[in-house]
Amino acid sequence: MAEENKEQLQSIRHSLAHLLADSLKQLFPGSLNAIGPAIENGFYQDFEIKGDFGEDDLKKVEKKMKETLKSWQGFERREVNLEEALEVFSNNKYKQELAKEFAEGGKTLTIYTSGDFVDLCKGGHVEDIKQINPDAFKLTKTAGAYWRGDEKNIMLTRVYGVAFETKEQLDKYIEMLEEAKKRDHRKLGKELDLFTFSDMVGSGLTLWSPRGTILRKGLNDYVQELRDSYDYQEVTTPHITKKELFQASGHWAKFSDELFKTTTREGHEFSLKPMSCPMHAQIYASQPRSYRDLPIRYRETAFVYRDEQSGELSGLSRVRCITQDDAHVFCRTTQIEEETLKIWDIIDKFYGNLGFSDLKIMFSTHDPEDMSAYAGDEEKWMQSEEQLLKIIKNKVGDEYTVGVGEAAFYGPKIDFMAFDAIGREHQLATIQLDFNQPEGFDLTCVNETSEAERVVMIHAAIMGSIERFLSVYIEHTGGKFPIWLAPEQLRIIQVKDSPELDAFVDEITASAKSAGIRVSTDRSNESVGKKIREAEMMKVPYTIVVGEKELETKLLSPRVRSDIAVENREEKSYPVDNFLTSIVNESNGRVQKSSL
Ligand SMILES: [Zn+2]
Ligand SMILES: [Zn+2]
Repeated sequence: MAEENKEQLQSIRHSLAHLLADSLKQLFPGSLNAIGPAIENGFYQDFEIKGDFGEDDLKKVEKKMKETLKSWQGFERREVNLEEALEVFSNNKYKQELAKEFAEGGKTLTIYTSGDFVDLCKGGHVEDIKQINPDAFKLTKTAGAYWRGDEKNIMLTRVYGVAFETKEQLDKYIEMLEEAKKRDHRKLGKELDLFTFSDMVGSGLTLWSPRGTILRKGLNDYVQELRDSYDYQEVTTPHITKKELFQASGHWAKFSDELFKTTTREGHEFSLKPMSCPMHAQIYASQPRSYRDLPIRYRETAFVYRDEQSGELSGLSRVRCITQDDAHVFCRTTQIEEETLKIWDIIDKFYGNLGFSDLKIMFSTHDPEDMSAYAGDEEKWMQSEEQLLKIIKNKVGDEYTVGVGEAAFYGPKIDFMAFDAIGREHQLATIQLDFNQPEGFDLTCVNETSEAERVVMIHAAIMGSIERFLSVYIEHTGGKFPIWLAPEQLRIIQVKDSPELDAFVDEITASAKSAGIRVSTDRSNESVGKKIREAEMMKVPYTIVVGEKELETKLLSPRVRSDIAVENREEKSYPVDNFLTSIVNESNGRVQKSSL
């Protein structure tokens, strides 16, 4: 979307927050509006509402908004002093509090009038009221929100709306929301028996079922195989560490509240690790390294822990125990480009195979206005950013965006953004350049002239967090995983009970298992139709129905899940061995199509 469009959309959404406040207050006299900004896809407004108000009332408020909009001419701006502001908002303690605070901070106070409604606001409205399309907004939901986000304060009611320039855009967005609801990974996680949470274990601590574990392992094995083709070596490090390590790395200060801390019986402070990097650095530092040994590439899929606030935990998107497919490359400055491109290659292969084509590139830099958020001095930052930018430009030209202030605290990074099947954007893989931890841990190699030379660390997560990646991937596929990844690849439906059929099905199952196929059999007393529907609900790629005919001919006619492309449609039935070999080949080759 063009920049000016974006700005216009923001001003429409912001203006609608005023309209919402005006309309709701007309319907619920005595209610107070607090704050109401534009947000992604829409807007919200916080209220202390007088009277009974529920989601059912949203329609009524929406109707009132359309009515009120007709009487609005535009936004009239007026500068006021504090006294005037307190007078105008004599009935609204929230506005008074804000006005006092702004005045104390030396800000100019402005009020905006639209229709009969006055609000304290710093501006950003539509220039022409006609820019607000009455058919292109909709109120969607309510939620509780503490005044100023502080739980010690009163709980207000937050009313959310979505808004666009045209009705078509709104309809498309609402359709996307409906589709997103169907694909919600929390819902599919339950239906497909992938993972669960237990109050007794604690929120944000995922319990992976056998099916979910297959999924995690399949994805992780794939990443690690790709890495090993570039000579990564696996390492293993503990879950906890002394405070001193994370102090030296900067994690102790950076993560402070998010660290799970513990004290040993001897009084030493430890914490669960929020990242593995400093430990990998210690393995590197455990021996003298020659320039001839470099690059050294370590990989480790590790559990790391962050004490997120329980209100922010949501399904797999945000958890307290995170599995990182982590890796670190220790190399010389001259090797940065080559190593970065190798990681980029792994990212392209992995995401390409999983159906996320056209990754968008974001160059994430430090924010020069706020150096306190970062380790190291500005000069180092400028140097490393220049270097990373050169690599990006060589690879993709101008096809990248810049995220100022989006860098990791120890260095700039390349972020890879993927679009899922319903058009939502997600930040997934990253490549991070780090000059700071090698400094902090004094990591060097002996160079050609026998001097100690500072090395560089490149952090390279492909999935990042397996939990968060799966929250995206489950919704991207709607739970229809490719054959190689499906927790259950083949379901055998036995038509009826008979000793001969039992034996035949046992034989197929045993062959499938010994070939490494993830197979299950359905011998229940349900009808064949119902059994097929159940296999479909579990999104099993291959189903075979075995009855008298199959027993006699020893030929199997597989049903292939509808989304899987089939290459060869001429043949319909296959000898057992050919059928199973095909599945094994598709699975091992991680192909997307079926040859059956
Ligand atoms: Zn405003
Ligand atoms: Zn790292």
